[in-house]
Amino acid sequence: MSFRFSHVLHLFFILSFSFSILAHNEQDPTTKIMEDFSGYPIHEPQFSASTSFSVDTENLQLQIDELSRYSDTPAPSVTRILYSEKDVLARRFIKNIMASSGLSVREDAVGNIFGRWDGREPELTAVATGSHIDAIPYSGKYDGVVGVLGAIEAINVLRRSDFKPKRALEVIMFTSEEPTRFGISCLGSRLLAGNDALANALKGTVDGQSISFFDAARSAGYATDQDDLSSVFLKKGSYSAFIELHIEQGPLLEDEGIPIGVITAIAAPASIKVDFEGNGGHAGAVLMPYRNDAGLAAAELALAVEKHVLESGSIDTVGTIGILELHPGAINSIPSKSHLEIDTRDIDEKRRNSVIEKIHQSAITIAKNRNVTLSEFKIVNQDPPALSDASIVKAMEAASKELNLNHKLMISRAYHDSLFMARVSPMGMIFIPCYKGYSHKPEEFSTTGDIANGVKVLALTLAKLSLA
Ligand SMILES: [Zn+2]
Repeated sequence: MSFRFSHVLHLFFILSFSFSILAHNEQDPTTKIMEDFSGYPIHEPQFSASTSFSVDTENLQLQIDELSRYSDTPAPSVTRILYSEKDVLARRFIKNIMASSGLSVREDAVGNIFGRWDGREPELTAVATGSHIDAIPYSGKYDGVVGVLGAIEAINVLRRSDFKPKRALEVIMFTSEEPTRFGISCLGSRLLAGNDALANALKGTVDGQSISFFDAARSAGYATDQDDLSSVFLKKGSYSAFIELHIEQGPLLEDEGIPIGVITAIAAPASIKVDFEGNGGHAGAVLMPYRNDAGLAAAELALAVEKHVLESGSIDTVGTIGILELHPGAINSIPSKSHLEIDTRDIDEKRRNSVIEKIHQSAITIAKNRNVTLSEFKIVNQDPPALSDASIVKAMEAASKELNLNHKLMISRAYHDSLFMARVSPMGMIFIPCYKGYSHKPEEFSTTGDIANGVKVLALTLAKLSLA
């Protein structure tokens, strides 16, 4: 995808003078020669996009606050679980805002919501942006939300600037980015990327209350044809670009005082479930030489994970044991079963996979040495990393510069719907600072100013890519 400088100039004219883009579609050859000769553009913008772009920060904040009230836990925490009553109400809220921003709204079989602003050239593929609004228990109101409500506001910004898209612009609200209900993260975007295995697996998937995925989806008005989710799949190349605006969920931008993060890559996540089984027994009666303690096997494996991650030699390799359960879980009982869940990530897929292999070898060795059974070693998911598309990175950087906003190239260590959208579309992400890097808790916060900056960069990037 190429982006021509002439288009930027055109955009400035549209924004500055509300000229019709049609009238300025081809650059005057004389101007081109003069520019080549002087080395400077003849059409210096009269004022930058930053002065013509007005984000309605007050209304956007009101919307963010109102959306946060569709929650199953009291404010300031937000809990919004897939296909729950609050989720359905929140979806209605989003669709109403999309419609009142002049977008035509459609939904697919799992409830991915699309709001479309048609372009001048309907045969061209659209440029898309979006994120999610589901929220894990007791989390905050900005994660994902900024990339949905902020994206709709970016459309409003462009409308107020009299911008006319050449390629259609679409805002997508993805279904279930968080794995809370069915244990599958980025459910909507994984399906959009055309995942037959997932579509099949969902037929047998139930939540913690044994409610099937399809029953839950139907209760929310989706998946009426329960045998087939292939209608959700997008063909590769369905969009010419996809950009997601998101809070950083880390402290770097705030620490460095930089308002915009331009994402060059999303780290490759993997998760593993491990079970050990031993004989258990009474904590007093069974003497140490006669034990095979499943709990100690888990503890040893947890430390082995840390060792293998550190030995990769790269700061980008990380590993976490966020779940460690012992059975029967009594102080006077030797654990007869242990269950660990390991999350490991890297921007280098090969390096991450070699860490996974070492963890597996350690699990086998530990089981042997401790005379316990390794009853499960299951790699739940092992996703490749995604690289941002070079032309989208260029457009995001150019937009930041034109808006006089400092930016920093960075890696997303958390993963997002963008990781999966990258399989069907060139992808890019924009990060904004969040307070102390807090996320997934009620203290999660971004200032209206930081959100407005993100919305402006998104708006200008969408405009550039729409004209490309
Ligand atoms: Zn998110």
